[in-house]
Amino acid sequence: MTTQLRNGHEIQLATRPDGAPTAANFALVERPLPELLDGQILVRNTWMSVDPYMRGRMDDKPSYLPPFQLGAALEGSAVGEVIESRSDAIAVGATVTHFQGWRDLAVVDAATATVVDTGLAAPQHYLGALGTTGLTAYAALTAIAEVRPGDVVFISAAAGAVGSVAGQIARKLGASRVIGSAGGPAKTRLLLEEFGFDAAIDYRAGDLRGQLAAAAPEGIDVYLDSVGAEHLTAAIEAMRPGGRIALVGAISGYNAGGGNGGARAESTPDLYLAATKEITLRGMLVTSHFASFGEFIGQAAGWLADGSLRTRETVYAGLDQAPAAFLGVLSGANTGKMLVRLA
Ligand code: NAP
Repeated sequence: MTTQLRNGHEIQLATRPDGAPTAANFALVERPLPELLDGQILVRNTWMSVDPYMRGRMDDKPSYLPPFQLGAALEGSAVGEVIESRSDAIAVGATVTHFQGWRDLAVVDAATATVVDTGLAAPQHYLGALGTTGLTAYAALTAIAEVRPGDVVFISAAAGAVGSVAGQIARKLGASRVIGSAGGPAKTRLLLEEFGFDAAIDYRAGDLRGQLAAAAPEGIDVYLDSVGAEHLTAAIEAMRPGGRIALVGAISGYNAGGGNGGARAESTPDLYLAATKEITLRGMLVTSHFASFGEFIGQAAGWLADGSLRTRETVYAGLDQAPAAFLGVLSGANTGKMLVRLA
């Protein structure tokens, strides 16, 4: 099929942030799409994901993913419909996930796209519970922290995308008590009423240590860390000997140079205490668990269908709203998965 030349719209990195990003770091740009080459597909993106890790890519620093380039489109997970194809593997009409979000139309190498089954679940779930979000929660609790029946499990950023799924998976793995922390009373209520947590901590109300001790008087066995700093410190203090910590993220420091760069000295985790309690702290990247993706999707789609996995989405509409959605995920404007609907 011949490709019709047309324009697409994309969000580019206009300037690099110094500290917290603002709308001024982004620019919405119209530009002509290249012609499709053999093996490529043209995708009309319907949903895109904004994720905390993207903050690190805005800095000009080496990391596990290269920095976003000034004057170039940002990238990230998206789902969309194939509207033109020069691939034998993916036909027009298929719904695919790929990594060229932050634009309305995407020219994608078919080999890097995955056809998803929209009969199994709505397309946007493949960016959330059935996407890297869900797989992160699952891998962190099974392969990394190895939740066992009877464990007391503590989840941070618990009303967010990974955290809300993780709390429910911890229960499925046999946790005896699941404790979540989130910012503000509306979110802590949601943890208890919607996501089935046994106890909820509002970390913005202060005294995280005291609140955790009250929620887990016998201590915790597993901690899924998305936050770092005071959360990690409090979890190590509350942990029973032999506990396991999955180091998944450290969002409290992302605007201050990443990792624990933003942690104040008094919130530096006590690793000697971790040593004497024989605690395992283990980092993870979801990309190292992609071999389990198919198996996970099969299982999680069943949970969605039978209602035993509940999800929330916070949706911003329109490509021009993608920067606001991204700024929102960093500041807690979301419950559940933060998404941008593009079509
Ligand atoms: P999310 O939890 O849906 O959104 C981020 C949440 O972090 C916000 O809603 C906000 O909720 C909370 N937050 C922001 N600043 C905070 C602070 N200073 N202290 C405590 N909480 C804060 O995002 P997500 O996509 O599910 O990601 C959650 C974490 O997992 C992030 O750290 C992310 O980088 C990490 N992650 C890692 C991998 C991996 O492969 N290792 C993969 C996916 C995600 P509140 O309103 O409750 O503050």
